[in-house]
Order: sequence, then structure tokens, then C-alpha cells
Amino acid sequence: MTRTALVWFRRDLRRHDNATLAAAAGADEVVPVYCFDPREFGERPYGGPQSFEYEKTGGHRTRFLVESVTDLREGLRADGSDLVVREGSLEDVLPRLAAVTDADELHYQSLPATEERTVETAVTEAFAGSDVSVTSYWSHTLYHRDELPTEPASMPDTFTPWRKDVEANAAVRESQASPDLPPLPSLGDEGVGDVPTSPYGVTPTDAAAGSTLPFRGGETRGLDRVDEYLWREDRLRRYKQTRNGLLGKAYSSKLSPWLALGCLSPRQVHAEVKRYEAERVANESTYWLVFELLWRDFFQFQFVKHGSGHFRREGIRNRTDLDWCWNDVRFRHWATGQTGIPFVDANMRELNQTGFMSNRGRQNAASFLANDLRLDWRRGAAYFETKLVDYDPCSNYGNWAYIAGVGNDSRDRSFDVLWQAEEYDPDAAYIKHWLPELADLPTEYAHRPWTMPRDERREHEIQFGVDYPEPMVSLARTKQ
Ligand SMILES: Cc1cc2nc3c(=O)[nH]c(=O)nc-3n(C[C@H](O)[C@H](O)[C@H](O)COP(=O)(O)OP(=O)(O)OC[C@H]3O[C@@H](n4cnc5c(N)ncnc54)[C@H](O)[C@@H]3O)c2cc1C
Repeated sequence: MTRTALVWFRRDLRRHDNATLAAAAGADEVVPVYCFDPREFGERPYGGPQSFEYEKTGGHRTRFLVESVTDLREGLRADGSDLVVREGSLEDVLPRLAAVTDADELHYQSLPATEERTVETAVTEAFAGSDVSVTSYWSHTLYHRDELPTEPASMPDTFTPWRKDVEANAAVRESQASPDLPPLPSLGDEGVGDVPTSPYGVTPTDAAAGSTLPFRGGETRGLDRVDEYLWREDRLRRYKQTRNGLLGKAYSSKLSPWLALGCLSPRQVHAEVKRYEAERVANESTYWLVFELLWRDFFQFQFVKHGSGHFRREGIRNRTDLDWCWNDVRFRHWATGQTGIPFVDANMRELNQTGFMSNRGRQNAASFLANDLRLDWRRGAAYFETKLVDYDPCSNYGNWAYIAGVGNDSRDRSFDVLWQAEEYDPDAAYIKHWLPELADLPTEYAHRPWTMPRDERREHEIQFGVDYPEPMVSLARTKQ
């Protein structure tokens, strides 16, 4: 009897080191499928008691996703298989495809965040009572969930003790090569389907000229970026010194979009770092890239532990003592990069134009919204969700909650944005790049244009409130 397996691709858009695909590959027929689900596009409610609407997936990530799915299809075709592409609710699409192909098994990647888990439950329930066996795999973290020294439910809520425990008591599994795949069975009249160019009407946005790195979706470019950053450009040896940079394509690895969609396995990155350490150099920088991947893991396992806790305004620490406000005008100023604080504005304009922002920028833009404006931090996080090309629910909401003081750290995480600006952009090159209206300002005033004397404003032909906004708040120099 022919054994037919469906492989439901999710945030694992790759063939290398893909436990789900590898497990299914032993069947006689394999049907790889990606489905564009309507819940991922358009205006969606942010759940919970203080609900609001926001755009789920913006144009930058839509483009990256469409490219990634297309690249996966090309890769599977080169392997003698194909990718079936559908649009619709997963709990409708998958049982229908199982019926058409007479499938015996469904294999999928399990994910920790609330919406992803809700979809998994709906899919599993749709197959309940059928002859199709359903199996899930954990495949998106560096350390496998089963190999953690402490179950996620009992893990500490602070990063350092968790990291030390994992580093001392767990090992990273080896990255696996792509499996050989059997052919696709007949799909009858339905065919394999086209990759939509504008899923649910969301038009992919081309990154603006001046983008720090043109992110092209897919496993091919993800693996190539590892090769470029580590081997061709030999950047890893100085990562620790450059990682807080703001401008250019090389200050950090820029691997996050491929990791977020699973075009790249973190274990593959780890394997390449180890090879680099053996063949080039092992130093603080090579360690630090893996250290950052541990931060990524930490948030993934935190979401296993706390369920929807990190999405709540009060966070996992149930901070009912904090006051948050809701002001559309102020929020718009922040979102469009019109706050009058150049460092915040430059970062927000970079995000809007490219779908990317450095880690330093994210910390400051988030802290400004949450700690200086005291606007409901979830709205800022949801805005990042719309815009980021590398959006990941755990990394995004985990980091936002952390900075807003409701997450994984009990210390004050607010940043002195002006101090940060002058420390990390001392020559103002970053803000001048993204804020052309300030490009001719003397560097001494660039981060605090409101301190510029009137005669110099006339000389430089700049009018605040006309050419560039007055600052929307006065920032006290109290923090770093
Ligand atoms: C408010 C806020 C929101 C964020 N939202 C996201 C998000 O949606 N998706 C996302 O991937 N990262 C997010 N980050 C984490 C971090 O900013 C990005 O991962 C990083 O800037 C991506 O650039 P890179 O790949 O060059 O990072 P590198 O410095 O080269 O780091 C290598 C990898 O480590 C991981 N990593 C690094 N820092 C963190 C961190 N603080 N938390 C989790 N993982 C980390 C990423 O996968 C990254 O690709 C957020 C950080 C903040 C402060």
C-alpha cells in the first residue's frame, strides 16, 4: 500500500535541517504544502480586554514571504518534488488536500505563540476522527526543547541563569542535510497552485534605495548571507565590536529575517560558526553571535512557559501599577518618524522604508514610546509586527514587554535616548542619512536641533515646526 505524507510548511521554509520534512521523506509520496491563511493579512483585532485593530503583515514582510515561498518551491522542484500552494484557512485547506491525495499522515512544525497554537489546535481538530495521523516537530530553536536541562514550565524568567544552565548542561544537535524526496502524487484538476503575488490584496513593498541590506527571501539567499557574512566578508571576527552599529549592511549579521521565517536553521548558523572557529578564529565575537541566538531561544521557551502572558499589557509580571495612555496623534508622530527627536525619527523612518531596524534602534524607539510617551506599549509592538521583515512573535513581544517593564527583567529598562544617540551615532551620520532635512545641520546640534541658536537656524535655513518638528516631549537626562 502506498504511504502518502503531507508536509505543512510554516515558519520552516527550508529543506536543510528540517525535521518535519525529514520525517515525512520516508513515505512513498510526499506532498509539501504552504498555505496563505487569511488570518495573517489585513486589519486584525489585537485580542484581550483592551482590543484594537492593526495591520497584521505589511508590504515588506509580504514581499519577503512571497520570495521565500517561491524559493522553497524552486528548491523542491530541483529535488524532483514541488510545493503545493493554497490560499484559505488551514483547517479547511489541509483536510481537503489530504482527501485529494489520499494522505495517511500530516507532519508540521509546532510553534509556541498563541495564534500559532490556536491554528495548530484547529488543524488537529479538523483531522480528529479521520485516518490521517498528525505529528508535530519542534524545529525552530538552537537547542531542541527535549534537550533542555530544565523544562520550559520551570525555567527562570531571567536570561542569565537560564543561559548558564543551558550552556553547561545541553548540546546543540547537528544540522541535517536536505532529505531525498519521493515524487508528488497526482493532484487531479487542482494542480499545485500559483504563489500569489499580492496575498489577500497586500502588495509587496520594494525596500527603498538606501536600505542597509536588500533582504531577499528564501533559503538560497539565507544560506548565502551566512556565507557572505562569515566567509566572504570575514565579518564575524569583529561582531562584538560592531554589533551596536546603525548604518550599513555589515555591523551585524542581518540573519534575523531568514531565521524568523525558518529559511535558515539556527543550528546551521551554529555549525558554520563552529567551522569558522576551527578554520579562522575563535574569539569573543564568535561566541557572541551564538549568545544572541540564545536570547532568541530564551524568548521562544518563555512563550511556552507563559502562554499569552507576554501579549498582555500587564505582562508576565502582572504590572497593574503602571499607567498607560492612548493618544492617536502622539502614536502617529512616533510611527511616522515625526517626534522631533532625531534619533527616534531616523529609526522609525528606516523601519518604514526598509522593514528593518538595528537592535540599538529598536531598543530606543520602543523605550521612547513606552517609557517617555507612556503610550500603550502593545500598540508599538503591533506596529513593529506590521512593519518588520524579521517579525517573530516571541522575539518581538518578548523584547517589547522587557523594555516596557512588564516582561523578563525587573530592572528599569528605559533608555536615555539622547545619551544613546550621541554614544552610538557620534558623528550623526545615521540621522543625517534618514532625515535629509537635517543633513546640513552642524553635527553638534544634529541630535538636539532645538538647542540651535536662532541666528544659526536662519543661516542654515531651517525652521522647526515647519521643516522638522519641534520635540514632542522634553527628555530629561536621567538614564542610559
Ligand atoms: C523592541 C524590539 C523588538 C524586536 N523584534 C524582533 C523581531 O520581531 N524578530 C527578531 O528576530 N528580532 C527582534 N528583536 C531582536 C533584535 O533586535 C533583532 O533580532 C536583531 O536586531 C536582528 O539583526 P541581526 O540579525 O543583524 O542580529 P545579530 O546581532 O546579528 O544577532 C544574530 C541573531 O540573534 C538573534 N537575536 C539577536 N538579538 C536578539 C534579541 N534581543 N532577542 C531575540 N533574538 C535576538 C536574532 O535571531 C539575530 O538574527 C527585537 C528587539 C527589540 C528591542
